[in-house]
Amino acid sequence: MWKRLKKFGGPGLFPVPISTSNLHTPRKETVLRHLSQGLGGDSGREAVLFAELERRLRDYHQAEHCVLFSTGFWALVAAIKLRALPGKSQVIIPSLTYRRLADVVYWAGLIPVFVDIDPADLAVSPRAIAENIGDETALILAVHPIVNCCQVTAILEVSRRSEIPVVFDAVESAHETHAGRRIGSFGVGEIFSMHASKLVNGLEGGYVCTNDAEFAAALEGYKTGAPVYYAGATHRGLNGLPHFGHAAFALAGLDELAGNVSHNQSIYTCYRKRLADQAGIRLLEFDEREQTSYKNIVIEVREDFPVTRDALVAAMNLESILARKHYHPPLHKKRFSYPVIVRDMTQTNLAESRYLNLPCGSRVTEQDAHTVCDFIGFVAENHELFKEAV
Ligand SMILES: *Cc1c(COP(=O)(O)O)cnc(C)c1O
Repeated sequence: MWKRLKKFGGPGLFPVPISTSNLHTPRKETVLRHLSQGLGGDSGREAVLFAELERRLRDYHQAEHCVLFSTGFWALVAAIKLRALPGKSQVIIPSLTYRRLADVVYWAGLIPVFVDIDPADLAVSPRAIAENIGDETALILAVHPIVNCCQVTAILEVSRRSEIPVVFDAVESAHETHAGRRIGSFGVGEIFSMHASKLVNGLEGGYVCTNDAEFAAALEGYKTGAPVYYAGATHRGLNGLPHFGHAAFALAGLDELAGNVSHNQSIYTCYRKRLADQAGIRLLEFDEREQTSYKNIVIEVREDFPVTRDALVAAMNLESILARKHYHPPLHKKRFSYPVIVRDMTQTNLAESRYLNLPCGSRVTEQDAHTVCDFIGFVAENHELFKEAV
């Protein structure tokens, strides 16, 4: 190990850096087969491809409607804008989450209100949501965490009791189930992304699943830029149309989903075995009673590990192991050029310095995962050399 490390003048552990993105590349023939269906320069052929993808996604998620968008970001903006109660200004969101989530709320013309997580699942806490609902609350934007799901049933119950609508950012829980039921099938509006880093790689793309026909029709209009009348208000739409090339890529990704997930499972299993006896490191385990994609690997660097999370990440990054601090910084510690509201952040503040995402996905091999674990062990044994978070 010594001789290979860049830190000691060696060539490095990985000639090509390994990342935390899924980056599944479907087979060329599969992509071309779908692409040729949409090629020909007329919008009719493209529409066939979009309809095929929407049908496949409805089946996959067991949702009645699926509306494609250009990206997950704009799908979120559209869903928030349409679902938010008219005349109210605030949207409840977690802080320990996707780095652009507050921007999404801002683009919908509303003010993000950051609330705390439940330390048990690192997802937005249903209790924190309930406690922070006020006169100006227009919407709850719940977000599924990277490992497993948020407390869907409890959050739906808070929404029902308070009569505040909820939508789910379900990007990280594509392929998963909650209480045996498919994420995407809960009806209220669940948003997914097909960015290259996600499970189904459409290069770019996003979609909303819902069981509400009126909401689906409003989303369809909204993404063409047309004014949309929905739930007592008129909304000016935006251009959120998907591209058929992305749809072809996504269809190929869906064709190859089983292989994608089983690869991820093999990587996860490898990390789980190897990290089980690494003192101070706790792997966040997938709940295997549910269906899961095994897509990302998140560990907790505990106080009994001899170097800090930040020092470990820095040491890894130097060796081309592109581990990432988990949702760092939490959004309430960032500076914004628009108003935001911060509520109690006790659990978020405790979690922010502990977790990290390890390399995974289609371009990481089991051998790579072993090397990463070897390196973690090496850092632990030689901790005096790795104290500094550079
Ligand atoms: C990636 C991501 C998004 C945004 O999706 P894009 O398609 O990249 O715009 C939203 N939410 C979460 C949790 C994400 O991980």
